[in-house]
Amino acid sequence: MKPAPFHYQAARSLDEAIELVGGSMDDDVDVRVIAGGQSLGPMLNLRMVRPTLLIDIHRIDALRTISRSAEGALRIGACVTHAALEDAPAASIPEQRLGAFLRFVAGGIAYRAIRTRGTIGGSLAHADPAADWPCALAALGASIELAGPGGTRVVPARSFGRGLFETAIEPGEVVAAVVLPTAPVLRWGYRKHCRKIGEFPHALAACVDRGDDLFEVWLGATGGAPVAVALDRAVVVQSAGTAPAQRRSALREHVATLLPDWIAQGDAYARHLHAQVATEAVIDALTMEP
Ligand SMILES: Cc1cc2nc3c(=O)[nH]c(=O)nc-3n(C[C@H](O)[C@H](O)[C@H](O)COP(=O)(O)OP(=O)(O)OC[C@H]3O[C@@H](n4cnc5c(N)ncnc54)[C@H](O)[C@@H]3O)c2cc1C
Repeated sequence: MKPAPFHYQAARSLDEAIELVGGSMDDDVDVRVIAGGQSLGPMLNLRMVRPTLLIDIHRIDALRTISRSAEGALRIGACVTHAALEDAPAASIPEQRLGAFLRFVAGGIAYRAIRTRGTIGGSLAHADPAADWPCALAALGASIELAGPGGTRVVPARSFGRGLFETAIEPGEVVAAVVLPTAPVLRWGYRKHCRKIGEFPHALAACVDRGDDLFEVWLGATGGAPVAVALDRAVVVQSAGTAPAQRRSALREHVATLLPDWIAQGDAYARHLHAQVATEAVIDALTMEP
């Protein structure tokens, strides 16, 4: 199928994009931002959405850069592609563990052709429950910068997702950047289960140790926004003294008891997958040299 007809305008700056998005709201025009087009493209083709105006933001330089905030935090522009993060040189992300985590997550998204176009901001805004960045960035404790007619506001990644394809973005707002905390990443684990390489995962888990909360693991692909489960410190510590197979089984049993009831309700296999993937992420983090 082909998309329904629409108008197209490429914004040259973030201010212009916000003006176009805001201005169009007044005129009762159905306006959409397009970044990499990797999700919006298929939705247009299938006529699941029929915007009257598309505002292309992917050429805005300010949105395509990896920089530093005034406080020294890593700031990733919304239109930085997955491929750019996968290939990010140490010079742009010198924090070794954080860089490795970001490269690993980016490199596991879909396949290379999609990664060269798909953007971190588009992934967050689209809020597919099985997407990688919403879960990975929640585990990292990142913040999302939203730019709108009233200025910029910051929303924690942990409360950015509101449900299935729902986010904290208000009408007229555009995702401008992702800002990461300055506290160093000491250890991490990131696991997902895909039936086929390049497909969206059926279970996804991220675990990041910044010296305080390794006992929390974030779960994705649950059908809604990412959700955290907090492991009992005593169980984790106790399991460390046992053989690897015993440890894995004790942790998986523990994680299984923590899964909220609504996850994969009534589907024992899917719940097992979530517990297994989360356990592997925790073990990867625990066994990474601090
Ligand atoms: C076959 C296939 C497999 C995939 N597998 C995975 C996977 O395994 N894991 C994964 O995480 N992702 C996966 N994706 C998704 C892909 O990686 C993109 O991240 C995703 O399509 C959105 O990014 P985009 O830049 O292409 O956004 P677009 O398609 O351009 O936009 C998507 C939505 O977000 C809005 N939007 C875009 N940018 C902004 C912004 N800055 N501010 C406000 N709104 C914005 C648009 O209006 C639109 O509603 C897959 C996609 C395909 C087609």
